[in-house]
Amino acid sequence: MGARWAVRAGRAFDGERFLPGGATVVVEGDRIVGVEPAAYALPPDVPVTEAAGTLLPGLVDCHVHLVASGAFPGTPGSLEWAGSASPAAVDEVVTASLTAQVAAGVTTVRDLGDVAYRVLAHRGRETEGLPRVVAAGPPVTIPLGHCHFLGGEVDPDDPPTIAQAMTERVERGVDLVKVMSSGGFLTPGSDQLGAQFEVVPLRRIVDAAHAAGLRVVAHTHSVAGAEVAVAAGADGLEHFTCLAEGGAAPPPALLGRVAAAGMTVDPTLGNDPSRFPPVAEMPPHILEMLERLGITDRDEHFARAARNTARLREHGIRVVSGLDAGAMPAKPHGHLWRAVAALVDGGWPVAEALATATSVAADDCGVAAGRLAVGRLADLLVVDGDLAADITVLARPRAVWVGGVAVER
Ligand SMILES: [Zn+2]
Repeated sequence: MGARWAVRAGRAFDGERFLPGGATVVVEGDRIVGVEPAAYALPPDVPVTEAAGTLLPGLVDCHVHLVASGAFPGTPGSLEWAGSASPAAVDEVVTASLTAQVAAGVTTVRDLGDVAYRVLAHRGRETEGLPRVVAAGPPVTIPLGHCHFLGGEVDPDDPPTIAQAMTERVERGVDLVKVMSSGGFLTPGSDQLGAQFEVVPLRRIVDAAHAAGLRVVAHTHSVAGAEVAVAAGADGLEHFTCLAEGGAAPPPALLGRVAAAGMTVDPTLGNDPSRFPPVAEMPPHILEMLERLGITDRDEHFARAARNTARLREHGIRVVSGLDAGAMPAKPHGHLWRAVAALVDGGWPVAEALATATSVAADDCGVAAGRLAVGRLADLLVVDGDLAADITVLARPRAVWVGGVAVER
């Protein structure tokens, strides 16, 4: 039995709701052993940290790229960089990414874009005060498809190469599988409006993963890619931008199918606008795409994407928050709060938006964290202010613990 200690705050969010009057959370080892009112009288031998601000579970970012740092090399091509960098150089970036995440109060990350399985070696660093890592390995894609430079190409017309790719992932010990169901903006020549796989080969991937007990999340920017992923039995949809000629809105029938299948959607909202180029300065292949889609104003596009998430909520679809951290300079590691704030901008109640980055996200990642509840991992965050009144308070961490270990910040 380890020594008990406690943290007390006048404001608290337990992963689902705000606790009136705050809370006292008692920790022993790496677990929460008590959640009591703020006024609870602790035994005299239990040291207590009095925290000014709001106490909540550490955040869970469901979509990161640890091998790529938005700040290093500091260009939109940092994922391509990782594809050709040395293992030692990649490891250095992974550690820097994890450090930036935990400093911001993110205590679990789900990595969905690895290269050469480097990220798997960074699991289990919680005692160093680094976040828990849930990792997919290199995303499965088609030859020269989205993020092919990460090394996850399979030939959809050749079932043995699919089987081999899946066996490799299982043997490496990945926690889930990521597949690129549509093209992406970061890969010129890939088709953001179409589907990379047909249903049959994608179902082969999904079935092989499920047979090994692994979930499958599908990257899709297009309606076509989402439809294939739903039909193939994938478990989650990343981005779910729902691009189609002339616009970006989820068709109601598709929303119904996603809800009926019990799938999770991670809309990967949130950008640092100061690090996002104006539309006119974007690369030619992206400009051409935006023109086809009728997108002329960046801020209006993001506002519409945020409003689209209200449709997910109306349909009762499980939503988790991931930033796509590291994918581009406008999405730095540790800025998950922007994804949560974007949901609030889109009309979500603050507590429900926070749940997408705590309790719901932890459950989706299969991690016993994300809640102030007895038996859960003591991944804790204190932010500076009244989070119920102002979601941007989430950007001001004051103290972080991973599995009861205080993070040096
Ligand atoms: Zn991504």
